[in-house]
Amino acid sequence: MPAPLMHIDSSPSLPREADVVVIGGGVVGVFTAYYLARRGVSVALLEKGRVAAEQSSRNWGWCRQQNRDARELPMATKSLDLWEKVAQETGEDTGFRRCGLLYLSQNDDELAGWAKWRDFARTVGVTTHMLSAEEATERGKATGRKWKGGVFSPTDGTADPSKAVPVAARGIMAAGGTVHQYCAARGIELSAGRVSGVVTEAGTIRTTTVVMAGGAWASSFCNQLGIRFPQAAVRQSILAVAPGANGLPDALHTARVSLTRRGNGGYALAISGRARVDPTPQQLRFSREFVPMFARRWRSLAPGAFEGWRQGHESLRKWVLDDVTPMERNRILDPKPDMRQIRLTYQRACELLPELQRTAISHAWAGYVDSTPDGIPAVGEIEGIPGFILAAGFSGHGFGIGPGAGHMIADIITGSEPIVDPRPYRPERLKTAAWGKVAEF
Ligand SMILES: Cc1cc2nc3c(=O)[nH]c(=O)nc-3n(C[C@H](O)[C@H](O)[C@H](O)COP(=O)(O)OP(=O)(O)OC[C@H]3O[C@@H](n4cnc5c(N)ncnc54)[C@H](O)[C@@H]3O)c2cc1C
Repeated sequence: MPAPLMHIDSSPSLPREADVVVIGGGVVGVFTAYYLARRGVSVALLEKGRVAAEQSSRNWGWCRQQNRDARELPMATKSLDLWEKVAQETGEDTGFRRCGLLYLSQNDDELAGWAKWRDFARTVGVTTHMLSAEEATERGKATGRKWKGGVFSPTDGTADPSKAVPVAARGIMAAGGTVHQYCAARGIELSAGRVSGVVTEAGTIRTTTVVMAGGAWASSFCNQLGIRFPQAAVRQSILAVAPGANGLPDALHTARVSLTRRGNGGYALAISGRARVDPTPQQLRFSREFVPMFARRWRSLAPGAFEGWRQGHESLRKWVLDDVTPMERNRILDPKPDMRQIRLTYQRACELLPELQRTAISHAWAGYVDSTPDGIPAVGEIEGIPGFILAAGFSGHGFGIGPGAGHMIADIITGSEPIVDPRPYRPERLKTAAWGKVAEF
């Protein structure tokens, strides 16, 4: 069964024009449109399938500063504050709670890495606690084991991926924006070199500003405009168990398996970082750029199958705007979970936390996690195409930092002081090599 996801209705009709058109109803596109609509900007959000049906409902739900790369940490910190406000602003529950994240380890090198990050975090005012063996064992008592140490990050938290983004999408409509599901953007129209419209399967919207927040589809879309955006996606598998286990931590990471309490009282279980690399034409095109990333992560990666080729999101094909495009042929990227890994994850989780033996697997799914070569998102206006803003490549961290990213994009568009410094995210940085610059975590 795929990841659970709340249904929302779309706006009744597509506008003929809008100040801003946002393409992609994942966490990044939705929060961009949300903060624009709340400032009175006329904004239309286009989603080829259902809001949040791709990565943004398939994730663990962690909203963390812990172990974030220095370039991304300010956005993570601001996002936690924004997550807190969304519930007040919309009057709806996103499931966000600052429950704290617990990391336990038996490995000295891992603990040393966390201590190094703690020292860095202190310099930027972020609190995280290294745990002694005793403290780790006490916090991890549900495992019934002794631990060498750990970390607890009290100001981090989780939101509920099955409803958080749909709730924010309803917030767009409540603030005067429009949301259009099952409406793919086929391409962009330019006049005198700058954006003048978005061609959708249901007609054209006149606009001068477009945000491309298409997740794993962004590079193939950019390719239509001659924009070279190095992006690759890997397939991660995850499962959920039904409610019934008691006394477990809300969010726990260990090297063998991780667990997150879900909104319904069940738990999501996964092996951190473990993924399959499904070869695609786009991956071959950008393979050189991704050598440093894959070299750093190779222990967690395994060769996949032709699943990615079949899905069509990483095609190098050019398409025409008056005919059906790959985005309409594949409304929801729903790759097959790796069932061997699902079984292994469940087995490891039950060994670690015997209480889980009282539960059964309720859902198992996979998601393509889209990444840039240096593991930091690409956000900013593309040089040479005024009005075209790229916001993709969130590299496995986008759910937590989605509100901050959306706020920053809305700031840039409206000419406000950006909530965080946008320079680390400039897409132009990807024109130079990423050797030595890959995000640590
Ligand atoms: C298993 C897993 C675990 C993860 N765990 C975490 C976690 O704990 N914490 C965290 O912060 N992050 C996590 N992530 C990463 C996080 O989910 C992503 O970084 C984030 O959701 C990306 O959001 P997005 O809006 O960029 O893309 P998506 O959520 O993929 O949304 C893009 C949307 O654009 C739409 N689209 C594409 N092209 C078009 C078009 N032409 N027209 C209309 N619509 C289009 C797609 O249909 C899609 O809905 C995880 C991801 C996975 C898969």
